[in-house]
Amino acid sequence: MRFVIKVNRKEKVILRISSVFVLFLLSIFSVNSIAAEVNVYSARKEALIKPILDDFSKETGIKVNLITGGADALISRIQSEGQFSPADVLISTDVGRLVRAKQLGITQVNADDFVVENVPAYLRDEDQHWTALTLRARPIMYAKDRVNPESLSTMQALTDEKWKNRICIRSSNNIYNQSMISGMIQTQGEAKTLAWAKGLVANFARTPKGGDRDQIKAVVAGECDIAIANTYYLAGMLNDEEEATRKTAQQVAVFWPDQETIGAHVNISGVSIAKHAKNLDAAKALIRFMLTDEAQVWYAETNHEYPVKEGIKWSQTLQDMGTFKAQDVSLSKVGETNAKALMLMDSAGWR
Ligand code: FE
Repeated sequence: MRFVIKVNRKEKVILRISSVFVLFLLSIFSVNSIAAEVNVYSARKEALIKPILDDFSKETGIKVNLITGGADALISRIQSEGQFSPADVLISTDVGRLVRAKQLGITQVNADDFVVENVPAYLRDEDQHWTALTLRARPIMYAKDRVNPESLSTMQALTDEKWKNRICIRSSNNIYNQSMISGMIQTQGEAKTLAWAKGLVANFARTPKGGDRDQIKAVVAGECDIAIANTYYLAGMLNDEEEATRKTAQQVAVFWPDQETIGAHVNISGVSIAKHAKNLDAAKALIRFMLTDEAQVWYAETNHEYPVKEGIKWSQTLQDMGTFKAQDVSLSKVGETNAKALMLMDSAGWR
């Protein structure tokens, strides 16, 4: 017996489109000789990555073994494990670490058109060793009741006398600050950046301590009037379960510096395939998955990071913080000048 399905022209087109779509999905997620598992070394906290990995497992049947830790510790671990390293994928929350991993020779080329088509060039390594998964920004944050935003303009202007004892920022061994200084070296040169760092240190309200959230809290506590911090920390506090934390965060606002000129400093969270990855196809499939609209929306909504893919909606909190012009520098270069940035901050007396 034969079943004949009668379809009209319009339905034929729809059928053809949907079969092409199914093929497209298969080409993304089903991998020939698929490995049943993939080993992920992640510098992202488990809560901020696990849901995406679980979705990936659900859709592909590939089991994800997750190891989380500090980026430096994970990099050293991959190095010492050498060719026997079980690591397939390395996830980092800063471009500095991804560049460092590449320089240490523990990553490999991921030649994948899907990555090239979905991630703007400045957000991925020119040799295809790493790609960004999300974008994060590091603007100025200020006490709404004590600072008139009209008194703010550029990062450079924070060295003005009027900000003496009013600025909080974490220490120079924090990689977000190192990358911020690297970006400045790229846009303004070393001499100007050193002078800026000295001027900023002179205006510190206290010896640097704590993380980005602590700088925001210090502003609210009145220890300082200005903080420099990544937006997702403030966004996280604004959406916290605890009412007290939400109320604290509501007393601080974001100011986007350097909008007329070089733009605000941005950084990325990103991913590399480990040099000795045994589950190569699964590793590639995972990276593609993290760049799908579905995953990008999750990052934007849950982590309050900016999607790297065009056309993905930002979370309401990020929308409320406003659009901005981002610093237009190669993130590879930002990573490469990390050591220089560190020395410069040391010379400026930035603890
Ligand atoms: Fe962070």
